[in-house]
Amino acid sequence: MKVLVINCGSSSLKYQLFDMVNEAVLAKGLVERIGLEGSVLNHSKGKEKHVIKEEINDHEKAISLVINAITSPEYGAIKSVEELSAIGHRVVHGGEDFSGSVLITEEVVESLRRNSELAPLHNPPNIMGIKACQKILPEIKQMGVFDTAFHQTIPEEAYLYGIPYEYYQKYKIRKYGFHGTSHKYVSQRAAAMLKLTEGKSRIITCHLGNGSSIAAVKNGKSIDTSMGFTPLEGIVMGTRPGDLDPSIICYLMEKENWGIKEINNMLNKKCGVLGLSGVSSDFRDIEKSAVEDGNKRSQIALDRFAYAVKKYIGSYAAILNGADAIVFTAGLGENSASMRLKICEGLDYLGVKIDKDKNFTRGVEADVSADDAATRVLVIPTNEELMIARDTYEIFKSGKTKL
Ligand code: ADP
Repeated sequence: MKVLVINCGSSSLKYQLFDMVNEAVLAKGLVERIGLEGSVLNHSKGKEKHVIKEEINDHEKAISLVINAITSPEYGAIKSVEELSAIGHRVVHGGEDFSGSVLITEEVVESLRRNSELAPLHNPPNIMGIKACQKILPEIKQMGVFDTAFHQTIPEEAYLYGIPYEYYQKYKIRKYGFHGTSHKYVSQRAAAMLKLTEGKSRIITCHLGNGSSIAAVKNGKSIDTSMGFTPLEGIVMGTRPGDLDPSIICYLMEKENWGIKEINNMLNKKCGVLGLSGVSSDFRDIEKSAVEDGNKRSQIALDRFAYAVKKYIGSYAAILNGADAIVFTAGLGENSASMRLKICEGLDYLGVKIDKDKNFTRGVEADVSADDAATRVLVIPTNEELMIARDTYEIFKSGKTKL
């Protein structure tokens, strides 16, 4: 009843080992600098920490070191891999092929390859992690849990762009949305915390981190989200612009004599609060420079970010016909009391009223609204790994795992 969760990036790999009897984390860690000099595995079991420095040339080597770490007699958490029920992989883009988590078969891998065109930075390393596990542990079932799956319930009128329909048919250009596992987890927790009746909930989830997205969740289903065809759309982020007049792209390409590579680089790495402030993409640095140094551009960046979030909350309240709760999660959403307050200022028409004392919370689940607020504001630490472990274990238990 142990499940290993793997989140594989191009040069890093995060893992968590769960005991599904009580959903406890038995061990976890991070492999960094795969294929680069100075590669390292940081493993922890409870408070014990172990650093394993070794040459890690590829994902296969990384996975074998992870297996060694979790089964180590000295600092491991299981005796052998036979104790593993299954392995759950985070996969970024499932396209229109997956509306839920699945057992990974060759057909699934093929579909992930097809969808790689939609997520060229994320899907290929996800596939590498899956392939490495299949090679090293061929007898263990692998499941795929997709960032896009939760948003597959978004209706056509919300996911289609106003461009010729033939491009949807030809290239599948539409809104997909991301951070789905996080939006699903926190919306479920919010419904449980507020004891909302099943089939009667309107929740706006704000996943605010380096990459940020907002979702409208009605009766447990995503009906809209701010990220789109790619994670560039939506609110202003750490280094991405969010919603933009598309002509700006053509105009800049012409003025700066840029090709696709240059414009993509600017849109993904130089925009957002980094581009506005010129200081950093990290909200902690920007808050510090605004408050301590009185940096006006930093203040504008923070104001612009809060404004974008507020606007999305308003538009999602419109499509949900009100809201029972607004949830804040991820690095910024969980930790920045000042940003939560700024976003929620002036939302009294929605029945939002933050209790400033309760709002000074960090890293724990909390209802930070005043007692008489009609719309509750909740802080809920996200737990994508647990969600992946749950889905993986559910598929394993269901027995629908014939390869
Ligand atoms: P991602 O997973 O998208 O990389 P995270 O959810 O880990 O991002 O969020 C990271 C961001 O959260 C950081 O860039 C930082 O801006 C913000 N953050 C974390 N802690 C705080 C804090 N105490 N105050 C303000 N911002 C914070």
